[in-house]
Amino acid sequence: MPVVSLAKIAASPAVTAGDFTVRVPCIYGKRLLSNRVSLRRSSVSHRVRSELQSPRVLGSVTDLSLDNSVENGHLPKGDSWAVHKFGGTCVGNSERIKDVADVVVNDGSSRKLVVVSAMAKVTDMMYDLIHRAQSRDDSYLSALDAVLEKHRATALELLDGDELASFSARLHNDINNLKAMLRAIYIAGHATESFSDFVVGHGELWSAQMLAAVVRKSGLDCTWMDARDVLVVVPNSSSQVDPDFAESEKRLEKWFSQNSAAKIIIATGFIASTPENIPTTLKRDGSDFSAAIMGALFRSHQLTIWTDVDGVYSADPRKVSDAVILKTLSYQEAWEMSYFGANVLHPRTIIPVMKYDIPIVIRNIFNLSAPGTMICRQIEDEDGYKLDAPVKGFATIDNLALVNVEGTGMAGVPGTASAIFSAVKEVGANVIMISQASSEHSVCFAVPEKEVKAVSEALNSRFRQALAGGRLSQIEIIPNCSILAAVGQKMASTPGVSATFFNALAKANINIRAIAQGCSEFNITVVVKREDCIRALRAVHSRFYLSRTTLAVGIVGPGLIGGTLLDQIRDQAAVLKEEFKIDLRVIGITGSSKMLLSESGIDLSRWREFMKEEGESANIEKFTQYVKGNHFIPNSVIVDCTADADIASSYYDWLLRGIHVVTPNKKANSGPLDQYLKIRDLQRKSYTHYFYEATVGAGLPIISTLRGLLETGDKILRIEGIFSGTLSYLFNNFVGNRSFSDVVAEAKQAGFTEPDPRDDLSGTDVARKVTILARESGLKLDLDSLPVQSLVPKPLQACASAEEFMQKLPQFDEELSKQRQEAEAAGEVLRYVGVVDAVAKKGKVELKRYKKDHPFAQLSGADNIIAFTTKRYKEQPLIVRGPGAGAQVTAGGIFSDILRLAFYLGAPS
Ligand code: ADP
Ligand code: ASP
Ligand code: MG
Repeated sequence: MPVVSLAKIAASPAVTAGDFTVRVPCIYGKRLLSNRVSLRRSSVSHRVRSELQSPRVLGSVTDLSLDNSVENGHLPKGDSWAVHKFGGTCVGNSERIKDVADVVVNDGSSRKLVVVSAMAKVTDMMYDLIHRAQSRDDSYLSALDAVLEKHRATALELLDGDELASFSARLHNDINNLKAMLRAIYIAGHATESFSDFVVGHGELWSAQMLAAVVRKSGLDCTWMDARDVLVVVPNSSSQVDPDFAESEKRLEKWFSQNSAAKIIIATGFIASTPENIPTTLKRDGSDFSAAIMGALFRSHQLTIWTDVDGVYSADPRKVSDAVILKTLSYQEAWEMSYFGANVLHPRTIIPVMKYDIPIVIRNIFNLSAPGTMICRQIEDEDGYKLDAPVKGFATIDNLALVNVEGTGMAGVPGTASAIFSAVKEVGANVIMISQASSEHSVCFAVPEKEVKAVSEALNSRFRQALAGGRLSQIEIIPNCSILAAVGQKMASTPGVSATFFNALAKANINIRAIAQGCSEFNITVVVKREDCIRALRAVHSRFYLSRTTLAVGIVGPGLIGGTLLDQIRDQAAVLKEEFKIDLRVIGITGSSKMLLSESGIDLSRWREFMKEEGESANIEKFTQYVKGNHFIPNSVIVDCTADADIASSYYDWLLRGIHVVTPNKKANSGPLDQYLKIRDLQRKSYTHYFYEATVGAGLPIISTLRGLLETGDKILRIEGIFSGTLSYLFNNFVGNRSFSDVVAEAKQAGFTEPDPRDDLSGTDVARKVTILARESGLKLDLDSLPVQSLVPKPLQACASAEEFMQKLPQFDEELSKQRQEAEAAGEVLRYVGVVDAVAKKGKVELKRYKKDHPFAQLSGADNIIAFTTKRYKEQPLIVRGPGAGAQVTAGGIFSDILRLAFYLGAPS
């Protein structure tokens, strides 16, 4: 066990904080007994006040002359070294720090360098201290106490004896220094970058020392390294820093010459020094970058980045629940993924290790059994063929604004782009993506939202003359944008990838504001509205990766038909998922009084019970927003199973909002012509779908047959059919000596009619279907203009009740019996039919006579029959026949429309 001499410490002033007291080491004579505990940084508090304008003093980083006693040695670079990096969550509390120590101890490499981040949230806390202090908010003091307390408590749980004492001493000393520095910032109301870099880097100093002490507890030698002693970086013009490898290498050699026994080194991530020894950082999330630089300096055989996920996912797992782990990624792919927002890896991690071909492995500290993701050179087979999928992953960046500089005066004028971007550079804005139309009419680029104001001002000032002279028409700012990027090295050699990408976006009804494809072809980048971004991400991800089409389904009207549909979906869901990769998630059901909503999908085996017990008051607007607004599923459909005209009047709005609509409700397609035309027009222009097969003939393929004929160039001449199951039944059974009223009574008894049979006999329902088919064939017909022969005798139209009607109906039997007799005499039967005469552009509903060998004469039960006479089917019409009513077949028709929608949206067929 390492022994730490506290001789010097004992002579130092005491600091009391919390419930324990330590002594602060002020003067260091020699290196403390073991190089394992290096308290080599000078105490600075006494100098802070006088030298605030230059934190250089704080960075008189190491007094190397102190370590002369240690034997000189050269750094043995190469494969014997393994470099690990542990992110903030990995060292988030004492238990986790112990787990990390176990991983370090168990790694069989002969030499190990471990880079650690600050404990989770600590860097944020440190930035917050600065923010408070420079805002003259003296709560920075209590916030600093919280920082102290967090580390004090963690150390108490991890360490004891001398290790605890020495760590605590260091901690209190640092906190005192920070207090002094924050006080100065408070007084000045301002913190320079080097002050804040000095402050925020403390999280790493503490986590590295604690981890080193815990590793030592297991009996191994372990040295901690303050990376400011080794890593030298030079600030560059884009507010970043670039490593100075040559200088860092020199300093590392020097460091090693004084720590030549070190075989396990725990180094701080994130922090470094400038060539002038001023403390600095590698900027937010920079510990990955630190580790990569270390990997390169040590020429390690591998860099393992430990985090809280199983590796690099095909998309951010917080946004796409179906994302999958990628086994391998090329350096370029990993770079593109991280550049475009996959924060599992800092984008600058790649370059240093790529130079030496050092593989990076991303692993999960919480799941050691997961192999992780290997990032290395592109893997190719013997013929040089790049293995893997063309698109590996997707990433997004939020909070962007698009700047569009437009004008005819830009075309062919050299230097415009350079003038634009030099103006942008002057304000220090970071251009994330650029796209220029080849007409040179406009240049469009994305910058972080917080920088756009300055960019806009700079451009307006730079181009004042051009704008005034009309050479530039506008500098447009489009706020609230996000970038979505698809990344994959094999995209370069695979045609059609972008077509699939854009197709998936179009089908999810996502509007693209700008497009860029790098000439490396390793990524396709689009800019979309911020609120569309997650949906866009999910749509493209499911298209490329999962081929599982997930649809958010909202059902309006869970009555007989809606209920049957829900049961059918319940029974079929597993097969759909398994065999067709279609995931139908019913996330809302609404009746007229109650509705049930569930983001993850309603359990369809118990929806009736849930609806009763947990249903909330129905509200169609809330329902619509819920179905559309869910962030997990890119495509939404509302299925209207009512016969309600009010609900039907919402379709336009639904389609406009990008919600697909499926319905058996006839009201929209047979309602006012202008509204119908508006819906169809919108539907053609947008990528939203509207399916209504079950409006005519329930589940029979009538609309789809008609569409198929039209789309393949046939010409409809006439559509004639028995479209009402009830009227089919009545006339199929109106034979022999039976009276019509008798047949109606029997049908009513059997439940084949509406509660008031006049609703069937009036012919309105048939007239609606004729209107729908006529419009589908291209005729601009209105329901009102359709001659309809009603079978309700005029005097009975005013009957107050169905009973009264049924009672009086026999008085009118004679007329129909007479017609039947006349027909029979001519070898014919009576049938109640709807007709679309596409040549005369007319429709009608009437009682007609047909020869006994005509297909219409041979119907039985309540079957529907429809005959299409077309240019191709002129001699013999194309006939569709079968049961055209009933809950099961109607629900089946709706269900098949929902599946058709899923196939349109990309499910494999
Ligand atoms: P650490 O603190 O370990 O550096 P980060 O929070 O910086 O961890 O990065 C890990 C996080 O990155 C994960 O928790 C995950 O939510 C997020 N992330 C974003 N995109 C991806 C992706 N494509 N694959 C894996 N993780 C991702
Ligand atoms: N602790 C630093 C940060 O939170 C660096 C890192 O964790 O990568 O930004
Ligand atoms: Mg990170």
